[in-house]
Amino acid sequence: ATERFNLEKQELAFTPVAKISTIVNGLRSAFADDVMRDIGFRKQQLQALLQGVRENSDMLAQALKLDLNRSKQEAMFYEIEPVEFEIGQFLQNLDTWTKPDTNRLASDQIGFLASSMEVRKEPLGTVVIISPWNYPLRLTLLPLIGALAAGNTVVIKPSEVAPYSAMAMQHVLTTCLDTRVVQLVQGGVDETTELLKQKLDHFFYTGNGTVGKIVAKAAAEQLVGVTLELGGKSPAIVHNDVADLGPTAMRLVWAKLTNAGQSCTAVDYVLVHRSIKDKLIKLLVEVIHEAYSRTPQKSADYGRIINQRHWQRLMDALAATGGSVVPVADDEADKNDRYIPPTVVDDVTPTDSLMRDELFGPILPIIAYDTLDEALATINGRDQPLALYVFGSNKTIEYVMGHTRSGAAVANDTMFHMGAHNFPFGGVGASGVGNYMGRYSFETFSHSRSVMQRPLWFPPPGVDTLRLAPFDGPQN
Ligand code: NAD
Repeated sequence: ATERFNLEKQELAFTPVAKISTIVNGLRSAFADDVMRDIGFRKQQLQALLQGVRENSDMLAQALKLDLNRSKQEAMFYEIEPVEFEIGQFLQNLDTWTKPDTNRLASDQIGFLASSMEVRKEPLGTVVIISPWNYPLRLTLLPLIGALAAGNTVVIKPSEVAPYSAMAMQHVLTTCLDTRVVQLVQGGVDETTELLKQKLDHFFYTGNGTVGKIVAKAAAEQLVGVTLELGGKSPAIVHNDVADLGPTAMRLVWAKLTNAGQSCTAVDYVLVHRSIKDKLIKLLVEVIHEAYSRTPQKSADYGRIINQRHWQRLMDALAATGGSVVPVADDEADKNDRYIPPTVVDDVTPTDSLMRDELFGPILPIIAYDTLDEALATINGRDQPLALYVFGSNKTIEYVMGHTRSGAAVANDTMFHMGAHNFPFGGVGASGVGNYMGRYSFETFSHSRSVMQRPLWFPPPGVDTLRLAPFDGPQN
């Protein structure tokens, strides 16, 4: 069947709005039927997903090429292999993670003698995963792994903005998984709005904060949990005591230009000590030339902006900047090709047009500072970012970490934290609520149920009845 599925010839069909409640009800019935209680069944689903992703990796990579001009290597490295790896980790650890935590016998509390207490990890029920377009496979399938492993039935709403990825996932998931426990709803605002009205037990959303609030409100209506994986302007600080500017520049370029800057953990802007600014910019330009040449539009490895609307948004922000654009590429932005060359902007101020919203594109504003506290004031004057990067001595690193808040913080590198297993990934404040990856995913999609069993014979009647009024002897 896989060979006959020609992705390029497909068109994304939206799910009829009237069908959405039937889909969710089906998943709720499967959950109620205890289909997911059996750990063996969950593992079998994870195995099937692993096999489905492996067998279809070419088609999944092709979808990313069509949606984002993603190179095969980046598709494998950032989206397909991490999913395979995560499934492997879950298969290895699920027996341990699903075991009740019994290490809670309150032996030091006399009233609990002869009681057994355990914390059981129970599924939440039927959960929804709503994902964005920028890493469409990874950001759908990684949470899906956690949700299934924890025993939930799952409805997935891929981003309609990356239609080939949405169709590729639909093909893989519906052919390899049990459709009683996983279903997709395809569509945009209307379909998602309808989905959010359904009775669900947890909402897991990755995307922008504006929609994040809509999802949080929907969860509030039902009083159920919500995980929000949002974005923000993630800064990088480069201080004058950094050991080596060479690798620093390379790692900054990597985080800015992978996926043409459309990564939630991309370096949004650089704060650099004034004394090393010019040297850093020179190195950034050299690295960009080495990676993508002077005509990146021709490079097989340089991505495209997801659509013309986002292309225009970025070009408008660039047109309004008060900074000075550093000459980097010899070619020019091209709307039809959704191409924006790597763009470094010097002399940017914290109030510049490029500093208003998350850029989410290959534009790198450079802000010079004279003191570290001045740089920290720029960061702390804004919403808490999803990631914070700092390049400098150990003393600088500790100072920066001790005086800022962010979803994650990485010293002397960028974005690398995303690949580490069992390392919670998530934001704080405006960059998100909750986290996932490995055991953290399992916890996010589980309820820790306190289960206590008491004997009727203890405490003995004379003592046991002391809990009940009257407390001051018989009343009349
Ligand atoms: P998007 O436009 O694809 O939207 C995400 C999802 O929300 C889609 O499934 C979409 O259909 C749905 N949606 C859109 N409008 C809606 C509405 N009015 N009501 C209900 N649902 C709606 O993606 P995006 O938001 O442009 O994604 C980019 C943002 O996501 C950036 O801010 C980025 O930083 C953030 N992001 C965060 C992470 C993370 O893990 N924290 C990862 C990737 C992206």
